[in-house]
Amino acid sequence: MSRASAEREIVAPRLHECRGCGLLQSVPALLPGISAHCRRCGTTLHRARRHPLEHSLALTVAALILLVVMCLTTLMSVETAGIVHRAGLFSGPVELVQRGMTALAIVVVFVTVGAPFGKLLGTLYVLVRLREARPPRHLRRVFVLVERLTPWSMIEVFVLGVLVAYVKLGDLVTINLNTGVFALFALTFIMVWADGAMDHEAVWDALDRTTRPDATRRRPQALRRVAGAIGCESCGLVSVPAPGESHCPRCDSLLHARKPNSLARTWALVIASAVLYVPANLYPVLTVVQLGAGEPSTILGGVRELISSRMYPLAALVFFASIAVPMLKLVGLTVMLVATQSGRAGWLRDRTRLYHVVRFIGRWSMIDIFMEALLGALVRFGSVITIEPGIGAVAFCGVVILTMLAAETFDPRLMWDAALRTTRLHRHQASV
Ligand SMILES: [Zn+2]
Ligand SMILES: [Zn+2]
Repeated sequence: MSRASAEREIVAPRLHECRGCGLLQSVPALLPGISAHCRRCGTTLHRARRHPLEHSLALTVAALILLVVMCLTTLMSVETAGIVHRAGLFSGPVELVQRGMTALAIVVVFVTVGAPFGKLLGTLYVLVRLREARPPRHLRRVFVLVERLTPWSMIEVFVLGVLVAYVKLGDLVTINLNTGVFALFALTFIMVWADGAMDHEAVWDALDRTTRPDATRRRPQALRRVAGAIGCESCGLVSVPAPGESHCPRCDSLLHARKPNSLARTWALVIASAVLYVPANLYPVLTVVQLGAGEPSTILGGVRELISSRMYPLAALVFFASIAVPMLKLVGLTVMLVATQSGRAGWLRDRTRLYHVVRFIGRWSMIDIFMEALLGALVRFGSVITIEPGIGAVAFCGVVILTMLAAETFDPRLMWDAALRTTRLHRHQASV
């Protein structure tokens, strides 16, 4: 590798605002494989990769091809009494629409097809056009869109939903895995790899160099810490907005010192999802009708059935994803909200870590929804055996989406601001 290209890969030193606690700190240029963490709360500020742009481009192309294959082929086929049913990616949502659960179908299609396609196409577009001599300015808006879509792309969760459906059906009918499932396995592997290889800072750095060369010349001054500096939520650039200016100079997103109305909005979303949590657990999510007989089962009932048929690992997985994770999210967010409003100063690092955990695990609750959609589409053998998704699934999907939005709306930096205010107040009272 030439010296010039090695230098091109190292992201320049710059000022960062920690997303966990809001501390401004400068991060030096990092060699590939090295990561920088916030010195106050431990949140990762930047992790440098080797050949970030080239690796991401190759992996994105591979993922796009696999996603197209998965959309066009059959995932699974089941056979009973001489009748064969095949299910592709869209069979589950089509079945949901026929049963009047259109909202659920839209969510499933968005998180398994829409968001992954948007994310991959956007990344490919940005990475390809970045190689031009004069890339267009709108690449920055496209890349912001990619970052916004990322949490909603749930391929790695979908693969677990498919796996649960496969094991669950094993007892009831003859089941075959088809091309689509193998494409899905490969796609999951590639997408996790691509997420690991992606260095957002390196892409922004390249965008700055090519679409805003004047900004690169100004960068050394930006390293000085200045009062009123705000970190952009979308691209991470720290800037001091001129009077009357409220947009990020790099990506044009609206700038806020803290997420607007964070506490009120998060409370509203947490309360709404706590309310929905009741029907999600009381109403059936699945009904298995075998030879004309069958009872609807709730989420907890499904776990009990798995235990009684001795599928312990699967029971543990469904219990964790559908019962433990939503509970942990609701309790965790409530603890963070109450601690922020009461200005508590203890456990700040742990609470920030809890925030990152709550944000990361939210999507895994969708396993149950994917499994129900797939089972409903596959098992339609009249009175011999039929599986119907239940209305509880709609409420449960609502809980997952609302708690994910709540985690995005909550601003962990407010916990540190509140604690700082309390400590200052105590110090002031002590001195008086
Ligand atoms: Zn921090
Ligand atoms: Zn920005």
